[in-house]
Amino acid sequence: MSKFFSERFSSLTPYIPGEQPRERKYIKLNTNESPFPPSTAVIEAIANEAEFLNLYSDPTLKELREALAATYGVEPGNVIATNGSDEALNFITMAYADKGFAFPDITYGFYPVFCTLNRVNYREIPLKEDFSVDIEAFVNAPENVIIANPNAPTGINLPLTEIERIVSANPERVAVIDEAYVDFGGESAVKLIEKYPNLIVVGTFSKSRSLAGGRLGFAIAAKELISDLDAIRFSTNPYNVNRLTLKAGAAALADAEYYKNNAAVIAANREYTAEKLKYMGFEVLPSKANFLFIRSDKIAGGELYRRLKERGVLVRHFTKPRIADYNRVTIGSKAEMEAFLTETEEILNEIR
Ligand code: PMP
Repeated sequence: MSKFFSERFSSLTPYIPGEQPRERKYIKLNTNESPFPPSTAVIEAIANEAEFLNLYSDPTLKELREALAATYGVEPGNVIATNGSDEALNFITMAYADKGFAFPDITYGFYPVFCTLNRVNYREIPLKEDFSVDIEAFVNAPENVIIANPNAPTGINLPLTEIERIVSANPERVAVIDEAYVDFGGESAVKLIEKYPNLIVVGTFSKSRSLAGGRLGFAIAAKELISDLDAIRFSTNPYNVNRLTLKAGAAALADAEYYKNNAAVIAANREYTAEKLKYMGFEVLPSKANFLFIRSDKIAGGELYRRLKERGVLVRHFTKPRIADYNRVTIGSKAEMEAFLTETEEILNEIR
């Protein structure tokens, strides 16, 4: 760190993204990407837009806002699009800084980083022993709250009735529901935004819509909240979503059937993989996401991660003490899951 770096960032521990290795081809089950490419219509939309890259993208996000609104049954004024949902989350921590934020101790690792970056207080509420969210603690929290639903890296999903309890408990704070993984078996809280002016639902195109590299996220909320986020957006980067991605996003929404089918295949591969892992003696948390969180008495989390990597399979291991025994395994194609299962079985046989 240079001597010029601001004192205010001295306590910042940056988020560590999952590995994106270039030196060798891995079966990549470590960053919850989709194994499926974007649809043909999306690829064509990007190609057709390329010749206009000399011009700035639309700062009003009009076309994509309208497409998102139609998809989710809201009005364009209820929607904002962002550079990945990470940007929506960053804007939210900036916009609602005063009350601070509460979120689970085991959840998406970027929440505390955004809070620290923006000098916002935060409190981590421990998940219960079984890794489920402590609903009562969130109902009673005075802070703004962020809940990933399904949660990451556990995959555990809360029913909408529980989400509603948290949102409705305190109208004086915002409740952010991060639905990055909702399309793999969860139920969206978007239908509640009309009823709750303090609810913000955050979504992404990175998982079920195969656009992680395009960087596209969104938030859906009451119009007043969206105006707050637009004020932050126009004060940060009015061209936050690039031209190619704006077109890709709209084309992906128009191709809903393709993505719905892919999500169903991933959910089926998840159930298949979970069964096989349980048969091998793994503890597998009940997941509604495109990943499984798994643990075995036979091998430590870090050891399994390393041995799989040697064999060309990347999974995600977190060093946080409470979850260091676990690995998070993204659900890929059936062939990728078969390869993962075969390698895992061989590793277990080796150490026996
Ligand atoms: N929320 C959760 C819970 C996530 O796991 C992720 C992806 N790592 C994100 C948000 C951010 O995704 P993106 O910025 O690609 O939309």
